[in-house]
Amino acid sequence: MSEISAKRFDMEDIFNALNLGIIVVDAVGKVLLWNNWISKHSGIQEADALNHQLENVFPEPISPAFLTALNNTLTYRLPVVLSTALHRTPLPLYHASEVNQQQTRMYQSISITPIQSNLNESCCLIQVTDSSTSIKREKILRSHSEILKKEAITDGLTDICNRRFFDAHYEMAVADAKRQKHPLSIFMVDIDFFKSYNDFYGHVAGDTVIKQVAVALKSQLSRATDIVARYGGEEFVLVMPHLPKKVAEQFAEKLRNAAFNLAIPHMKAAPFNQITISVGVCTGIPENDSNLLNKADAALYQAKLKGRNQCISLPLCEAEEYLQQ
Ligand code: GH3
Ligand code: MG
Ligand code: MG
Repeated sequence: MSEISAKRFDMEDIFNALNLGIIVVDAVGKVLLWNNWISKHSGIQEADALNHQLENVFPEPISPAFLTALNNTLTYRLPVVLSTALHRTPLPLYHASEVNQQQTRMYQSISITPIQSNLNESCCLIQVTDSSTSIKREKILRSHSEILKKEAITDGLTDICNRRFFDAHYEMAVADAKRQKHPLSIFMVDIDFFKSYNDFYGHVAGDTVIKQVAVALKSQLSRATDIVARYGGEEFVLVMPHLPKKVAEQFAEKLRNAAFNLAIPHMKAAPFNQITISVGVCTGIPENDSNLLNKADAALYQAKLKGRNQCISLPLCEAEEYLQQ
């Protein structure tokens, strides 16, 4: 400190005006300095803290991590910064308005530095700052990024997985099935005569139908490994591992029924006069050149040709069909 500054200012005024907490303890942990900021946020006046062991000054316990850090600094003379991520509230400090209620401790950022007194005593300087705002900001940013992450993989209209998620998931599911040699089923689902529904009932009503069908399909899933995604327009795709072919075919029927049972009138869809779906399914253990998705799509095409409101299952390769017979 320059002599000019030392003469001009009373150091105690500066020390008490600081917007951070300052505590100095001696080699055995007795309090030598206690600034106004600490008094304000602990409710303990300087006179009640000076010359007492720090851990006995507070009515509530100090975190063991803080005491260990203080001990280490006193013993090894090395500075320590307590991680705010691991130790959010080491000292019983509160925001000024809550000191008397003592409900939620202030989030703190603490550093402990070894210092030498003019009498050559080994002491420790403890600096405390209020990290509530930065922790709150960090929480908000984290929740924003979680929302963005969810939005990136969710279809805006139906709230089920979107095509982007499906593409990544499909690739992983095929790789898993190949590696572990287990069957994988792909279901392609398409709403029948949907163009004429839109033309007759309007696009907004069409959107509502897409949403209702999405909910009906999703409600058929119960395992964490199964997904339903909007493939595009009025088309959906489901990925389900570990189903024997027969079970996959029964499941396709369940999907068809779930949509049928919505009983949404569609006057331009003879002969059912209601919303129906067609389903193409392909089940198999994928190999290098096999393409479950193409096969499921071919199955869906056949279901359309055969009159819609039905499910068609195709084997992944002809040899598999032969083995199943
Ligand atoms: P098919 O039985 O052969 O499937 O006939 P389709 O009329 O359902 O099939 P097509 O592919 O001819 O028409 C699909 C229609 O789906 C066309 C488009 O207007 C409609 N569509 C696609 N995406 C949306 C959407 O997000 N909202 C609404 N309301 N309609 C959509
Ligand atoms: Mg279509
Ligand atoms: Mg269609």
